[in-house]
Formats: sequence, C-alpha cells, structure tokens
Amino acid sequence: MTRPPVYVTRPILPPLDAVQDLMREIWQSRILSNGGPILQRFEAALGAYLGVDHISLVNNASLGLVLALRHHGITGEVITPPFSFVATSHAIRWAGAEPVFADIDPVTLNLDPAEVEKRITDRTQAILAVHCYGVPCDTEALGDIARRHGLKLIYDAAHAFGVRDDSGRSVCLAGDLSILSFHATKVFNTFEGGAIIAPDRETKLALDRLGNYGIVDETTVLETGLNTKMSELNAAVGLALLPQVDEAIADRERIATRYRDALSGVAGVRAVCPTGRAGHNYYHFPIQVGPGYPVGRDALYARLRQDGLFARRYFYPLISDLPMYRDLPSADPAALPAARQAADQVLCLPIFPGLDPVDQERIIAIVRSPC
Ligand SMILES: *Cc1c(COP(=O)(O)O)cnc(C)c1O
Repeated sequence: MTRPPVYVTRPILPPLDAVQDLMREIWQSRILSNGGPILQRFEAALGAYLGVDHISLVNNASLGLVLALRHHGITGEVITPPFSFVATSHAIRWAGAEPVFADIDPVTLNLDPAEVEKRITDRTQAILAVHCYGVPCDTEALGDIARRHGLKLIYDAAHAFGVRDDSGRSVCLAGDLSILSFHATKVFNTFEGGAIIAPDRETKLALDRLGNYGIVDETTVLETGLNTKMSELNAAVGLALLPQVDEAIADRERIATRYRDALSGVAGVRAVCPTGRAGHNYYHFPIQVGPGYPVGRDALYARLRQDGLFARRYFYPLISDLPMYRDLPSADPAALPAARQAADQVLCLPIFPGLDPVDQERIIAIVRSPC
C-alpha cells in the first residue's frame, strides 16, 4: 500500500464561497487593480491582525525587498546572511546594491550581530537581516549597530507572518522596514503577494507611489518607479483567508510539539526553533543533524524520499556558494563557518495544517532509526 507523497508544505486555502462572493464584487465594480476597494479592506484587516498601522501591499516579497532598498536609496554595500532563500541577495542586486555576507549565529541561525559589525566599511549603507524560520533576529543588537553606524536596517520577514516579540509586539515593527511574503509556501498566502510594513503613513504612501511607476497624478511622475501592485484578485484571496490563519498556526504548533517530543531524545538531532514560544508561527520544523547521529543529513533526506516523504534542505546551497556571488570577497567560506555548518546539517521536516498524523509518525519513525 503506497501512500501519496508528503511534501514539506501545503498551502492553506480560503473557503471557495468566500472568494466567490468577493469575485462577484470585482465583476460588478470592474476594478481589478490600482489600490481597489478589496485591497483597501484587506490592508485594514491585515493591519488589525498583525497589530501594525502602515502597510504597503505588493505583488511579491522579492519586489517588496527591491522597493524597500530603493526607497532608502541603498546602492552601496548591504550586509546580509548567506543562509537564506536566494531572493534575499537577489533583491539587493536588483536594487543596484551589493551584498556583503556575514556569518550567522550557530544556535539561532540568524545573522550574528558581532559578525555584522566586522563587515562594516565606509561603503556599508544597510543591513538586510532575515528572521529565519520565523525566529526573530536579535533586533536590539542589530538596531544598536545600525544606529551607531548610521545604517538602514531592513528585515526580510518572509518567514515571520504573525510573529510577535516577547512583549507581544509585531516583529515587523523592528528596524526601518520589514517585508512579508504571501507566496503559496508561506504561513499565509495570497497565491503570490507580499507586504512592506512601514513606520508611518508618509513612508507607506511613498512606497505605494514607488510601486506605482512613481506616479503622483495624471501629469506628474516623480521618480523611476516600478509596478509592484497587488491585484484585487490576490487581495480577495488574502481577505478571505485571514480568518483562518490563527487556526492554521495552532495546527502547526500541535505538529511541531509532536515532533519536538518524539525527537528530543534522538542523539545528534537538534530542533532548531524553540517550541512553546508565544508569538511563534511554526513556519518550518528544521532539525540539525550533527555528530552522534548514525547517518549524515543527506542520507536521512534520501531515506525519507524513498518513502515519499519530501523533507527539504533549507537552505542549501548557501547563497554565497552560488555562481553569481561566490567570487565576492565576503563569500570566502573560511569566514562563514556557522552558515556552512547549517547548510550541511539542517533538514526541514514536513509541517503544514492538515498533515496526517499517520504520515507524521512515519517521518518520526525514520528520523528515529534511519538505517
Ligand atoms: C519566500 C522568500 C522570499 C521571496 O518571497 P516571494 O514573495 O516569493 O518573492 C524572500 N525571502 C525569503 C527568506 C523567503 O523565504
């Protein structure tokens, strides 16, 4: 008896009826984009959910990152982790700036503030940090470095939907700007989409304008803008899905807790993300497969695949090893030991709302005894 494949994630979807009701509104209004009525409702509902006041919706997080960097006029060096999804560094290049890689903390796998400080030169203009797996960066230390050196601090918060800090405040309020992704694979999705969280209304409106070709009015174009607008269709999906997201995160937490309990005694395996932390979103369940485990990470990955269980090596390879970045001085592997170790040892186990408990037990059984 073979079971269907289990992938690392599976998107959540809103009730089709709710989307159809919104589609009907769109068909009546014939407003399809350009900050339409559904987008405005979604923006307000999202702000209320996240506990933030100023949101600029975009068509994906990659362009949101580009827009954020362009908004701050960043064309010099941007310090960023090599252990992330490739879009983080690509956005820096598309903005016309240059990534400079700094090593990560070996425990949290987020940018190490001490390593950031070592990479600062007179050409450094910004830090682009990533809340990896939704675990907040050391926002205090990074904020302190940015202030002392006059740098902009931007967060790639693609993994951090709904994540709150210890005081219950959205983690997206740290730094100058934060960018969320609503891609299908994330905790919350609009099929494709994203948002920039801004500190004030003026910045939000400036971002909206930069993402609408730089147009001010019928005859005035202020700057070389881009088109990053979210359509009414994508906003409708978001608006209809938002009421479900708490339940989805609660389901993820239940699955993560089962993994943690079942794997806590396995020698050589470390659960990367703390469980039971208030305000976490359980976006991934990464384990670090190190010394003391009977096989290497890649052997475990292959063993799970044999049974149709598709864990993923996020993030391997390191961004700094990719052909378009590996010749940068900061890509020297000798300076990035913690990132390299994470890339070689981390495996993200399948986690998503609705993961069949039978499948989760199959995954657990293999991780417990891979041979
Ligand atoms: C998914 C992701 C992105 C890109 O988001 P899109 O909305 O797909 O463009 C950027 N950074 C990180 C860390 C991501 O995981």
